[in-house]
Amino acid sequence: MNALIVLLPGDGIGPEVAAEAHRVLQRIAERFGHHFAFQTHLIGGCAIDAVNDPLPPDTINACRESQAILLGAVGGPKWDDPTAKIRPEQGLLRIRKELGLFANLRPIRPQPSLLDASPLRREIVEGTDILFVRELTGGIYFGDSGLRGLPDGSELAFNTMTYTTGEIERVVRLAAKAAMQRRKKLTMVDKANVLEASRLWRRVSERLVKSEFPELDYDVVLVDAMAMHLIARPSAFDVVVTENLFGDILTDEGAMLPGSLGLLPSASLGDGGPGLYEPIHGSAPDIAGQGLANPLATILASAMLLRHSLGLEEEAANIERAVAGVLETGARTKDIARSGEQWVSTTRMGDLVIEALSG
Ligand code: NAD
Repeated sequence: MNALIVLLPGDGIGPEVAAEAHRVLQRIAERFGHHFAFQTHLIGGCAIDAVNDPLPPDTINACRESQAILLGAVGGPKWDDPTAKIRPEQGLLRIRKELGLFANLRPIRPQPSLLDASPLRREIVEGTDILFVRELTGGIYFGDSGLRGLPDGSELAFNTMTYTTGEIERVVRLAAKAAMQRRKKLTMVDKANVLEASRLWRRVSERLVKSEFPELDYDVVLVDAMAMHLIARPSAFDVVVTENLFGDILTDEGAMLPGSLGLLPSASLGDGGPGLYEPIHGSAPDIAGQGLANPLATILASAMLLRHSLGLEEEAANIERAVAGVLETGARTKDIARSGEQWVSTTRMGDLVIEALSG
């Protein structure tokens, strides 16, 4: 297969972890006979420094031409002034908007050899394999909002949760398709006992699943109950789909289950165009440039890229098996090493994964 992959290393540890994922993708291409062309572009703080724009036109144009995008991370203290008009995170929000990336996918699958790193007991977290699908471009973060003064001198503020049938259908359909490739179970999370927007989600989602995916085992759970189930019985879920605000909170709760930020990838997908793949962690300025960053989340993001944007399931699974195998041998970067335990550098971890790739 031929594919153009855009690399957006970004700031802080972004370039360090993206470099390892790049090497893994190159090795996969060699082993499986694919031709991947890579182009590297600026995003975030480094783009502000270079051209005063966190998402320069060259970057977005290259992304549009590509099949998939691999991002490191953006931001850092240098650009942290909250009153600044131009900020690194604007690059991320704009790229999602420009590419119509309406669904965020986060797999939560604790590594078997790291179960004791979870804040939950091993027997609760064991067997957990959830794919969260969060709606990313609608809801309360994008609805009408306002702030005004009241006659008594106090203030009133409001935000509005807005969804259309089409916005719900496209993300539920994407989640249902993913569930069909997995254990065929889909859970939709809402707050239909209180919110009108949730009642629309419930009607639209149920109608779509019944008519297009009748073989799915489908259920609905209220968001407050889901917050409890996620830590009481996380292994009961397969694919979970929900709106933007609920997804924001639940995916962060879920991210705690595996015990380390450095292990979790995510994907943002739209209709047809390129997908954006990244680790869920930030640019970790406290450890940047020291070889301390764990590259596994970004390497696992590259596996998602192969699966979701290029349809290369075998190659994706190969990377995931290699990562699990390396962790099984006891290799650890500093963030996941126990105190006193030996740890390896970012590049050494990349080497170990590459050595463990089979085929
Ligand atoms: P962070 O995720 O960068 O770091 C939190 C903690 O986890 C730090 O102690 C860091 O050293 C550690 N950590 C994170 N990733 C790691 C890795 N791969 N290996 C080892 N340790 C790792 O979050 P933060 O400190 O709140 O934010 C730092 C900067 O990143 C801020 O400017 C923030 O705006 C930005 N940020 C960017 C993204 C993104 O690019 N998607 C996401 C979150 C935060």
